[in-house]
Amino acid sequence: MYQKPRTIRSVLLAGVLILSLILGGCGVDDVSPTAQSTSPTVQTTQPETSQPDTQPETTAPTLPQGSELQVRFLDVGQADAALISCDGHHMLIDGGNRGDSNLIYAVLQREEISYLDMVVATHAHEDHIGGLPGAFQYASAGLTLCPVTTYDSDVFETFAAKAREKGGGLTVPQPGDTYPLGSATVTILGVNGEADTNNTSIVLRIDYGQTSFLFTGDAEREAEQVILDSGLPLGATVLKVGHHGSDTSTTYPFLREIMPQYAVISVGTGNSYGHPTEETLSRLRDAGVEVFRTDMQGDIVCTSDGKTVTVQPQRNQNADTLGPAAPTEPPETQPETQAPSLEGIQVLVWPETVGQNETATVTIQGLPNTTYSITVNYKSGPSSAQGLEDKTSDGSGQVSWSWKVGGRTSPGTFNITVSGGGETLTLPFTVTE
Ligand SMILES: [Zn+2]
Repeated sequence: MYQKPRTIRSVLLAGVLILSLILGGCGVDDVSPTAQSTSPTVQTTQPETSQPDTQPETTAPTLPQGSELQVRFLDVGQADAALISCDGHHMLIDGGNRGDSNLIYAVLQREEISYLDMVVATHAHEDHIGGLPGAFQYASAGLTLCPVTTYDSDVFETFAAKAREKGGGLTVPQPGDTYPLGSATVTILGVNGEADTNNTSIVLRIDYGQTSFLFTGDAEREAEQVILDSGLPLGATVLKVGHHGSDTSTTYPFLREIMPQYAVISVGTGNSYGHPTEETLSRLRDAGVEVFRTDMQGDIVCTSDGKTVTVQPQRNQNADTLGPAAPTEPPETQPETQAPSLEGIQVLVWPETVGQNETATVTIQGLPNTTYSITVNYKSGPSSAQGLEDKTSDGSGQVSWSWKVGGRTSPGTFNITVSGGGETLTLPFTVTE
């Protein structure tokens, strides 16, 4: 008589065991042995050991041979985007504004990253999620984290649709959740879907050996306080400064817990918000932090070997990043080309520059279930390449064309025309040898 319940229980136990194995395999809540939630080392130089021969058990995990962590803060103007790579695993945190879709697509294409372990949309504002459709256009993702699953904006709708299609849908993480990224570990420190949009920001730390990176989205002082109250360790070697350097973020108590060696401010030249503010810069100056800025220095590339972080800005290595704001250049035109758009047609991907024999792709966001035509005008006239026929957009309004640029196509700058739904859009593009 007691046989039956026991059998049921063991079946249940086996089920739980299998389930936890499966979940572990997916990486959710997988506390990898490299995770070091107890005391992340802030100093990049090792304290001297008196007994170098018998270290009982170093707190720092051993990293595999040839392992490296690279964190690339992309210059997306007044917005955020960072691409993180470790041991062939990749993660994207935010994707800039809508107009950056093309840039994000191009970066992934250049790096040949067609699979992202994770995409993190720190919060629903356009300057963080607007360009993520470009990422999903080139790559698929195993997991897409977002503090909310609904938000009332077209930009969010487009992002969420692409995340459902290519990113496994939207997952809301919880503080304390960890995810492996090669030999690195990602730990969620803060997320609050109920707060004001900036304060919903997913705040996370990436630990790699004895080094770590703290990403704060646009979290403001209220969110910083909640994270401080949670007691989760915050120490980090590199801080992505909250909210583009606004004085509503990076409070002294928060900064004191992090004690970063380096800080990166992702901010646009001559932005109308006055970011970064003098208050924030002076707090960073007081804390002795070495500051890098995307508006002055372009992409900021950080490389860690597990002990030391090396920071390499794309330009102006010695810019006075803590000094007065850079003088705004007379014309406020961005050096990067913004994706053209019209009322009814938004360009998600277009080939600014294509080489002969390469494949070009144009993706637009138009009206749902509408026929669009494309004309590619070369020097010799309209292209008759395969792949350029009229197409009907899907239910979300997207249409994509891919075609091969012939080996004998004359180099030069030409036009692509996209028409449909009563609108015509012209895109410039350049063919190179
Ligand atoms: Zn922002």
